[in-house]
Amino acid sequence: MEKRRSKTACPWCGGVVHQPAVGRPRTYCRDSHRQRAYEARRLGWRSGLGPGEAIVSARSLADLGDRLTVLEAALEDVEEDIRNVDDSQAYHQAFDHLYAAAKPLSDHRLRVRATGPERSGGDR
Ligand SMILES: [Zn+2]
Repeated sequence: MEKRRSKTACPWCGGVVHQPAVGRPRTYCRDSHRQRAYEARRLGWRSGLGPGEAIVSARSLADLGDRLTVLEAALEDVEEDIRNVDDSQAYHQAFDHLYAAAKPLSDHRLRVRATGPERSGGDR
C-alpha cells in the first residue's frame, strides 16, 4: 500500500501543497509560487529588510484592515447580544453573525511584495 505524505500550506498563497508519494517533499503548491517567493526574498534583500520583515501591497493591507474592522464590530455586537442571555437561539444567531464577519478574513491573503531573510530552512 502506498503511503502518502500529509498536506501542507503553501507559504506563498496559503493553498494546499499536494505532496508526491515518493521523493523530496514540496514546500510550494506550484513552481511559479516558489519563483515568486524567491523574487520577494531577492527584493527584500535589495531593500535591506531584516529577518521577519516584509513589504506588502497597500491595497492588500487596507483590505485586511477593513475585514478586521468588520470582525471587531461583529464581536462588539455579539458581546452585547449575548450578555446576560441564556438562550441557545441567541448563541446560534451570535455564531452566524461572527461567522459571516470572520469568513472573508479567513479567505484573505496578504499580497507580499518583498520578504526579509528566513531564519532557517530554504525552499524547495
Ligand atoms: Zn501557492
